[in-house]
Amino acid sequence: MEDRAKISSVIRQHLEAEEFFAGFSLRGQVDAGEFQEQEDDMAAAQRAGELEKLAEEIGQCRKCGLGSSRTNAVPGEGNAGARIMFVGEAPGGDEDAVGRPFVGRAGQLLDKIIAACGLKRGDVYIGNILKCRPPENRDPRADEIVACLPYIQKQIELIQPEIIVALGAHAARTLLDTTKSIGQLRGHFHEYFAGLGQVPVKLMATYHPAFLLRSYSPENRRRVWEDMQKVLTELGLPIPERQN
Ligand code: SF4
Repeated sequence: MEDRAKISSVIRQHLEAEEFFAGFSLRGQVDAGEFQEQEDDMAAAQRAGELEKLAEEIGQCRKCGLGSSRTNAVPGEGNAGARIMFVGEAPGGDEDAVGRPFVGRAGQLLDKIIAACGLKRGDVYIGNILKCRPPENRDPRADEIVACLPYIQKQIELIQPEIIVALGAHAARTLLDTTKSIGQLRGHFHEYFAGLGQVPVKLMATYHPAFLLRSYSPENRRRVWEDMQKVLTELGLPIPERQN
């Protein structure tokens, strides 16, 4: 009799315990997909915050002579979780005036290239190797590239794009550490190595929009479009049809 009472008491305790933890787990239960989304949102917010801090640092930078001749530093802008990151050479006059990348004529052409890919400017990240304008838009000097390179490296590390599109010879040569011409580099994928222990990022080199404006031949347009089609295919994105 006494044993039966003991067993009933143990069973009751088990049931109460089960009920308690069942209720607890239901209230706290989070769908795995939802949890992943929350984690992604937190990571994106953290990345955006770190990019913002980096932009503030760039705004104060005087590590090379361009820091004293610029009007505004141009850190870069776009989606902190972008799958594609466009990297150009350096800001020009229009960019220097407003502190934003690719806003002049070359920028408008880049916007058209992005739109032709079925994307918006806000879907991608756009930056330059140099964050300050070289006077008269001259080519970047080696010492300026060495001083400024850590900024774009840090931006790539934070954004973790799946593909970098290097616009023009200077960006492609700097990121790939090569002296090859843009003609040799464009049209196929390379790998950007951020350093030991870091996962390499696929890099497509193509013509700089400013070059395309100077040499706006059907052949050059076709080449850039072919390069971008390879990028879209690699990312599993659809290739929009030409509307005309
Ligand atoms: S170009 Fe780069 S390294 Fe030189 S001052 Fe500007 S941000 Fe600094």
